[in-house]
Amino acid sequence: MGRAFVYVILGGGVAAGYAALEFTKRGVSHGELCIISEEPVAPYERPALSKGFLLPEDPARLPAFHTCVGANEERLTPKWYKEHGIELILGTRVKSADVRRKTLLTAAGETISYKFLIIATGARALKLEEFGVSGSDAENVCYLRDLADATRLSDVMQTSTGGNAVVIGGGYIGMEVAASLVINKINVSMVFPEPHCMGRLFTPKIASYYEEFYKSKGVNFVKGTVLSSFVFDEDGKVNGVNLKDGTNLPADLVVVGIGIRPNTGLFEGQLTLEKGGIKVNSRLQTSNSSVYAVGDVASFPVKIFGESRRLEHVDAARKSARHAVTAIMEPDTTPDFDYLPFFYSRVFSFSWQFYGDNLGEVVYFGDFSGPSFGAYWVHKGHLIGSFLEGGSKEEYEAIAKVTRLKPEIDDLSELERQGLGFVVALSQKLPVAPVVNVGGSMSTVVLEKPMYPWHATAGVVVAAAIAGFAYWYGRRRRRW
Ligand code: FAD
Repeated sequence: MGRAFVYVILGGGVAAGYAALEFTKRGVSHGELCIISEEPVAPYERPALSKGFLLPEDPARLPAFHTCVGANEERLTPKWYKEHGIELILGTRVKSADVRRKTLLTAAGETISYKFLIIATGARALKLEEFGVSGSDAENVCYLRDLADATRLSDVMQTSTGGNAVVIGGGYIGMEVAASLVINKINVSMVFPEPHCMGRLFTPKIASYYEEFYKSKGVNFVKGTVLSSFVFDEDGKVNGVNLKDGTNLPADLVVVGIGIRPNTGLFEGQLTLEKGGIKVNSRLQTSNSSVYAVGDVASFPVKIFGESRRLEHVDAARKSARHAVTAIMEPDTTPDFDYLPFFYSRVFSFSWQFYGDNLGEVVYFGDFSGPSFGAYWVHKGHLIGSFLEGGSKEEYEAIAKVTRLKPEIDDLSELERQGLGFVVALSQKLPVAPVVNVGGSMSTVVLEKPMYPWHATAGVVVAAAIAGFAYWYGRRRRRW
């Protein structure tokens, strides 16, 4: 048995939802597009799972956070897909792919053929067993990647109020879940091998700002060590953890956030891989011209850094998905994907945004004992990365705009003196640009400004203005 579609999206996560919306905007006909997903629900905004979904009161639940509400766009419910003639094949795992024959084989035995395939398989959570620790299938050991994980975590949390949780991992998932556990009145210990939290992005100084706040909320940080084994009660539930440094911690609940692995398996040996993901060009096209890859699974050229990266962030998933659809449907007019890496998080009442790259010398600004501060990264004489906590919409827009410009910096102390004022002043000299915005009407997911058609025109104007401004700025930079 089998079905044939012009366009098939493999994977039903964030990227799939944004790709579907873009297909409809570009005029896909009924019956031409299908999404195949292992998950039993239509695409949703995954970041909500570690934020609004875990709130003790009035938690976010589907259908509230189906894509594309995270970008202030339409909410694509199952009804929406039906009305647009898009086939949603849910709860269905694809078990093999043949890119030469342009077919996918589902676990149910159905062959789906395509003219164009978009791979949007995302990533899976790394398991403790992959690091030699067994027992993570116990009912109170939780991972957090999909809705089923989040539902389980939420259920276990509800029975653990007043008890002890151990969070393994000090990255995004660890920090966001720890905050949710605190809000749910659960005592938290965080265990990770690095000297500070968010080791891949934060400097020690930035990390210590957040760690101090977490400590004030009772979070116990156990750094420089890893989990070595679980302790079980007679029912097979975990009631404690043993760490490699000899520490024992009581546990009613364990949450594991130790990283992810991109889901490339179906295409190994068929498509070129790079940096752990599927290699694509600046049209998001893989080594097979009928196959595109987007989101967490894709390794794509980041033009402003002159090298390929695989990013594990929602903004990249949304934008790469849209771009791939445009490249498929309007191949002659679609420019190269020119993406400025953007990461964010919201925990407790904090909200930070980061743009660019965290390489080179760090210049701090703002008040690290107050609600707003930040940092710039200066590499080879250029500002290439900016971090801001507690900024206004305009300030976030300014750091995004100026980081993309990569202005030349020849006096770090002057940059420090000007602080945030540097990017604000510089950005005011540039025309209004399309920007990313966090916050908005829906408290449970992170929202972005909608993309209106005029943004495309503005983008061209901005690009020209930036080039002109960079030249002007280069000539005048010694003035400050
Ligand atoms: P996914 O959204 O993971 O979707 C992949 C889909 O493919 C899934 O539905 C999966 O079931 C399906 N699939 C995989 N293999 C198969 C197969 N063989 N057959 C059928 N279906 C398959 N990013 C941020 O920038 N900020 C945040 O605050 C943030 N918070 C996050 C919180 C959580 C809890 C998680 C898990 C992630 C968070 N992220 C955040 C990361 C962000 O969600 C991801 O970057 C984004 O979801 C990637 O989108 P994607 O479509 O590439 O993959």
